[in-house]
Amino acid sequence: MDDVNPLAGLPKQDYDRLAEDLEFAAWVVGNLVVRFFDPIPARLLEVLHLEELTVGPIASYLRPLPGEQYQHRGAVADVYGGNRVLGITPLADGLLTVYSDDKGPYADQRIPGMDWIAYTGDGLSGHQTLSSGNRAMAKYQERRKALRYWHKPHRGRWTFETWTVIVQRRRRWGCGQDGLQRREFVWILAPVPSPISDTWPREVIEALNQDDGQLHDDSIDVIPAEVALPPKSERISARQRYEQLTAAAHRTASGRTRSSKLVQMERYLRSPAAREAVILRSNGHCENPSCMGHPLDRTDSGAPLLEVDHVNGLARTGQDVPELMIALCPNCHALKTRGRERSALQRDLLVVARARHQDFLERQ
Ligand SMILES: [Zn+2]
Repeated sequence: MDDVNPLAGLPKQDYDRLAEDLEFAAWVVGNLVVRFFDPIPARLLEVLHLEELTVGPIASYLRPLPGEQYQHRGAVADVYGGNRVLGITPLADGLLTVYSDDKGPYADQRIPGMDWIAYTGDGLSGHQTLSSGNRAMAKYQERRKALRYWHKPHRGRWTFETWTVIVQRRRRWGCGQDGLQRREFVWILAPVPSPISDTWPREVIEALNQDDGQLHDDSIDVIPAEVALPPKSERISARQRYEQLTAAAHRTASGRTRSSKLVQMERYLRSPAAREAVILRSNGHCENPSCMGHPLDRTDSGAPLLEVDHVNGLARTGQDVPELMIALCPNCHALKTRGRERSALQRDLLVVARARHQDFLERQ
């Protein structure tokens, strides 16, 4: 800078405002650093005498702060700029933001048992392509750049839940808004405490290092006909549907034995048929015969309060097929995974799952 002796500066009113309001100045510096530099250029901040402005975590100067809530998307845009409609779009500060609404056709979801998020890509109908929002996501994945995750629970408010980083890109069969099957992207988002990569948990760094940034395509070997679509025809009986789902589950079941988060996530995303089959078999009720009382309340989206899991939670090597899985109410699920009598319960439930599976297949 000294060599080229640049002549540049801010308009007086901006200069005055920055000089008078140090918190505002810190906010500006924090934004610039996060948007354009990572890792933080400590030396640059030092040379420019900015380090004392940003002592402490720079992320705390960024706005919005995690937890901020707004009634609707327009209210977010009024305060922070950015597009009012798109699902994947930057705020005025240039940092990418994704919005996830629980009432969508294919609700974005926390992956059970972990805090990672499976975020469906951009494009409501037809095959999704790596354009617009999905292209922006691919760039962030490649650069390992953090983005904001906003979530709106059913009938709730838009909340900036957390910063996240994209640990994997997958593709699967899904159902578009037009009711037709299509290939769609799933972006696996891992929550991180701030956009500064120094603060990310070890498991997130490991997942990033382990993933090659390439597309993991589940739309090649997972049968589309049995995935993600509600049974349409009235003529198909519950038993026939169960048979279809079981066949699909058997085709996609894999004998993986590793249990890293990426593998857990992968299994979850690859076994929708098995889970749907078990829910169908359960008829909305806990399948534990010694259940002490199953809450008949429903979730916001109208689904029964049931968790589908492998009967034998200790042996994670089991296949994702209905006869080895069971639908349990939250209480029985806890008894099965954490209860003192869990070993005996798991043995009993395995017998129950197999018997119910057989009964269901023999139903008229
Ligand atoms: Zn129960």
